[in-house]
Amino acid sequence: MKTIADYPFKGKRVLVRVDFNVPLDKQDFSVTDDSRIRGALPTINKILNDGGTVILMSHLGRPKGGPEDKYSLRHIVAHTSGLLQRHVKFVADCVGDTVKQTIDTLKPGDVLLLENLRFHPEEEKGDEAFARELSLLGDVYVNDAFGTAHRAHASTAIIAKYFSAEDKMFGYLMAAEIENADKAIKNPQHPFTAIIGGAKVSDKILIMEQLLDKADYIIIGGGMAYTFFRALGGNVGNSLCEMERLETAKALLDKAKEKNVQIILPQDSVIADAFDNNANISISESSNIPDGWMGLDIGSKSIAAFRDVILKSKTILWNGPMGVFEMSNFQGGTKGIALAVAEATSQGAFSLVGGGDSVAAVNTFGIANHISYISTGGGAMLEYFEGKQLPGIYSILH
Ligand code: AMP
Repeated sequence: MKTIADYPFKGKRVLVRVDFNVPLDKQDFSVTDDSRIRGALPTINKILNDGGTVILMSHLGRPKGGPEDKYSLRHIVAHTSGLLQRHVKFVADCVGDTVKQTIDTLKPGDVLLLENLRFHPEEEKGDEAFARELSLLGDVYVNDAFGTAHRAHASTAIIAKYFSAEDKMFGYLMAAEIENADKAIKNPQHPFTAIIGGAKVSDKILIMEQLLDKADYIIIGGGMAYTFFRALGGNVGNSLCEMERLETAKALLDKAKEKNVQIILPQDSVIADAFDNNANISISESSNIPDGWMGLDIGSKSIAAFRDVILKSKTILWNGPMGVFEMSNFQGGTKGIALAVAEATSQGAFSLVGGGDSVAAVNTFGIANHISYISTGGGAMLEYFEGKQLPGIYSILH
């Protein structure tokens, strides 16, 4: 893999695409979860220690095509300076004369953060002229933004063509993401268990289809499980259910049987009479939920059954919560599964967790240190596992 490990950065201006799309407090704009910034520190420090100059570029949020203060990257300058233990400079645009003039003043060891790339609509359009303008800001291009590797945006993919093969490469974070994803998907030790949760079948169907060729067990939890129960003829009350996906769900179950992959659904659910933490709560078989009630978490029998499978697994992939874990009364399932994955990992299994919600869960339940690898990419990780060529990876390699 073409990484920064052996590149001599001395005297070079290094343009690093990072994923600093971090959550900010709505009131004071402080960084509420800095995992993504921390993830890029080894790359930044390696370049600085070599005697290079670092120019950081990122997006933040989803601005509507122009500058918006709430999405300004200046909100994260102080936090990033603290983590790097050096002053990070900031310029209020990412292209243009002021940016060029600022870059001309930089010295080896300096770090400059450019303003949000998405303040220019050309970024998401993958505009060639914009990508070329960005490319002129550095001698070397490093992509360390796994979170956006599935997008063919100007700064994540198109820009790479303006650098020679020697002068473009993956940062440490990107390299680690690829290496760990490959450990699970290309070369898994068996039994290989995938735990897939979250709201919708439609978001996860492609990854589940790919997993039919790799996994031994697929555990399904979260809102998406009810589409499967309904497809099997069950009553799911008011639970989330994608009626237009019943056929897809049924077909997946049939294919799994053919391929000898065990799909494991949550046999019981914590049900509620409203989508509310203070709603009335009961326990029900997941395939027979009364009208007016909805399944918002997996029940204790499901947790125990899932745990048994997890504990006998050698490779574990987890994406998506088991219930509405944002509400305290419906987080037991996600917590139980998080603890089981941590336990299996401590017994030698390789575990990979990805997707914003599952990562948040792992952090909430304090077991992040007991997971083999926590991916910084949700959508990117899913697409990688779906077998798709990610533009951010492809553009470095070709
Ligand atoms: P995803 O982004 O697809 O991984 O879905 C995550 C979201 O699914 C979280 O916000 C959960 O609250 C939600 N979710 C999980 N289980 C359920 C459920 N049983 N009913 C409704 N929403 C759920």
